[in-house]
Amino acid sequence: MSQLTCPGCTGQMRAFQAGKLTLDRCAFCRGLWFDGGELEGTLGKRPAAKLTAEQESSRRCPRCAVPMRPAECGGLRVEFCTQCSGVFLDDGELTALNGGQPVRVQAGQPPPPARPEKQVQDDVMDWLHSLGT
Ligand SMILES: [Zn+2]
Ligand SMILES: [Zn+2]
Repeated sequence: MSQLTCPGCTGQMRAFQAGKLTLDRCAFCRGLWFDGGELEGTLGKRPAAKLTAEQESSRRCPRCAVPMRPAECGGLRVEFCTQCSGVFLDDGELTALNGGQPVRVQAGQPPPPARPEKQVQDDVMDWLHSLGT
């Protein structure tokens, strides 16, 4: 299994286990990558990713290297690849799963404390379940 390059910061992504899924997570910005099939396999249906803008994102799909598109999926802003249906999720967006509020880190402020891997996995599973209902 080849390592992916993070679309957010071009760091190396590492595979980790969340339930039955093997997801890829960036060790630097903590962004999360879902392959198209990973989301669909878990939900038993296509994720309802809605494109929110016509213009392309500045981020590129780590699989296809094509520009991704801003989209909304399960109430979160994500980057969506129209070729492979891959979804990239910022850690800030993931954090919003818990509080319901988007988390913004201003330049010059210290980054939020890193959360344990277990917490992230729980958040991911909660989000997946909310998509499936
Ligand atoms: Zn990254
Ligand atoms: Zn792609």
